[in-house]
Amino acid sequence: MFKLMKAVVVIGHKQGYKVQEVPDPKPADDEVIIKVDRAALCYRDLLQLQGYYPRMKYPVILGHEVVGTIIQKGKKVEGFEEGDKVVSLLYAPDGTCEYCKQGEEAYCHSRLGYSEELDGFFAEYAKIKVTSLVKVPKGTPDEGAVLVPCVTGMIYRGLMRAHLKPGETVLVTGASGGVGIHAVQVAKALGAKVIGVTTSEEKAPFIKKFADHVIVGKKFAEEAKKISDVHVVIDTVGTPTFDESLKSLWMGGRIVQIGNVDPSQAYQLRLGYVILKDIQIIGHASATKKDVEGALKLTAEGKIQPIIAGTVGIDDIDKGYELLKDKNKIGKVLLKP
Ligand SMILES: [Zn+2]
Ligand SMILES: [Zn+2]
Repeated sequence: MFKLMKAVVVIGHKQGYKVQEVPDPKPADDEVIIKVDRAALCYRDLLQLQGYYPRMKYPVILGHEVVGTIIQKGKKVEGFEEGDKVVSLLYAPDGTCEYCKQGEEAYCHSRLGYSEELDGFFAEYAKIKVTSLVKVPKGTPDEGAVLVPCVTGMIYRGLMRAHLKPGETVLVTGASGGVGIHAVQVAKALGAKVIGVTTSEEKAPFIKKFADHVIVGKKFAEEAKKISDVHVVIDTVGTPTFDESLKSLWMGGRIVQIGNVDPSQAYQLRLGYVILKDIQIIGHASATKKDVEGALKLTAEGKIQPIIAGTVGIDDIDKGYELLKDKNKIGKVLLKP
């Protein structure tokens, strides 16, 4: 039967979005249909609306972060059943290439992005390729699960790539941001001692609930070094913090670079500094299924508490983006269709 559902649709390049009625999705053989339980808003949505994502095919449903319940599956879908609670990777890998076989599907040449070449998740129902699906352990709150593919799972992979050892010290810049406040918790959950850095005096007490130490201000390297040797920095800001991030590291330190607030601004690196201090700079963006499973487990165990600034419905999507940009709020903004 032909039915309609409500969705947030990006009409065309730099043309904004509209809440529209669109046909209910139907699964191909290798796809499932989920009822969207929660989706999450992200700064990437704003960049997509500004036209920075050249692979977008229009019209396309916006949103790349989701948790939902399978209500229908294609003929060739194995390992998942109707009623299963699942999250989706941000992309659909082909599942067959050398990278995919090694569990490095983030590097798949033929991967397609949700809210790019494929419809995203700001809708009542969504279509997902089986290669993107990860089952959510029982007892995991939807608010925690929805944050895994783009936030906590991504951080988890960053710390795996940095070979974080329990007992090491991790410094997180932008610690009151939607990514930062969760990065503090993932690092703690993996056994690190954590220093949170923020420019906001008001938000410092909230960060202190999760971090061992909080530093307020733009110059944080000297103070950090007095607390401990810093082994890993998760920089969620970018060029404004990179210099201090680099200075705060002890020898053999690693920077996991996630933030890039001003993509047009270049950073001049003194090579001697990174060479003589044995420093590794790790550019980092996404998560694989293995990382998503790791972060879901920590979430199910209650070691990562989702921090939510607010939840909106599809019709209130404008309010959601206002909330996302509100500097007084802490945490992610969710959408509940
Ligand atoms: Zn995101
Ligand atoms: Zn592949």
